[in-house]
Amino acid sequence: MATLELDSITKTFQDGDEEIVAVDDVSMSIDDGEFLVVVGPSGCGKSTTLRMVAGLETITAGTLSIDDRVVNDVKSQDRDIAMVFQSYALYPHMSVRENMSFGLEESTDLPDDEINRMVSETGEMLGISPLLDRKPSDLSGGQQQRVALGRAIVRDPEVFLMDEPLSNLDAKLRAEMRTELQRLQNDLGVTTVYVTHDQTEAMTMGDRIAILDGGELQQIAEPLKCYHEPANQFVASFLGEPSMNFFDVTLDGDRLVGDIFEYPIGDDVRADLGETTDLVLGIRPEAVELVEGGADVPHEFGMTVDVVEPMGDENTVYLQFDPDADTETGATLVATIDGFTRVSEGDTVTAHIPEDAIHVFDRVTGEALH
Ligand code: ATP
Repeated sequence: MATLELDSITKTFQDGDEEIVAVDDVSMSIDDGEFLVVVGPSGCGKSTTLRMVAGLETITAGTLSIDDRVVNDVKSQDRDIAMVFQSYALYPHMSVRENMSFGLEESTDLPDDEINRMVSETGEMLGISPLLDRKPSDLSGGQQQRVALGRAIVRDPEVFLMDEPLSNLDAKLRAEMRTELQRLQNDLGVTTVYVTHDQTEAMTMGDRIAILDGGELQQIAEPLKCYHEPANQFVASFLGEPSMNFFDVTLDGDRLVGDIFEYPIGDDVRADLGETTDLVLGIRPEAVELVEGGADVPHEFGMTVDVVEPMGDENTVYLQFDPDADTETGATLVATIDGFTRVSEGDTVTAHIPEDAIHVFDRVTGEALH
């Protein structure tokens, strides 16, 4: 087992005359046995980060250490890591057993029967014992994924690196494998860095998640902390489905003034905003409550139901502050309410937006102020 330390890691690629900064001054420490999920939109630098840790990509600047040993110049095969790719990367001409034993035969002096024993044990752990003599082409996608995992596990590495390993599986299998991978990682206790663009995987699998955008680390923390206390507007918008509602507002005394509504704030929120007046108000859809009565109470708004999307257990409801308002932005509030609450398009409702559920961001920097 091992700790991993990325200290101001940068990676630039040269594309003709253009310099692409794929990873920009990223620092993070990953604990011994930790499951860290690196997440972010396409092109944010996730894979490049992982590939630098794996030794498949050189590091332009910064220091990478495994167990306090600087490994920038250590070859990939000497880093004691095992990588699992999205594509599985199995050798088609080899049997499952050979795919799993190949790495050990190459990198160790272990006798054949010992390697065989290790492969059989790992096969059993993953429920693929009956498949050991088959070729990859005779396996389903889910089975191939298990073999790819088995090949990584059997090497008993210090670190697992996984790059979107579940993205080729269908939704049901992916959900099953999520749980199984977590259980395996927990049992084996191997330090793991797992790259995905899927926020469900990030929220459910990681001890912590590292959120990247534009090559820069936006936040690294426990999933629920990132969700409830996002460091900035990017993190707030990236996590959560439907996404957080955002409204441009201006601070005026003890009110946040938007295009078509005002939101009064108490001293606690006011104190967090300091001198910043150009702000963004953030409201999670699940924070919105539909209540009885009029809209004459602070934080309650008379709204019109525009669209209802029934999801079964809950409804996603698109509400409008003022259907006649002449504005493109800031008119719609998305709310998730429980599936038993009956609302229809055109209804007039009262929406309560509790003050303890609001987020406020600096409109210029995106930084979370409250
Ligand atoms: P995805 O989820 O789409 O795989 P990612 O977050 O893993 O994206 P990277 O593959 O790390 O992103 O790419 C980060 C940036 O670096 C992108 O702008 C990409 O085009 C660029 N990049 C990656 N590899 C190279 C390369 N070999 N040469 C030039 N640019 C590259």
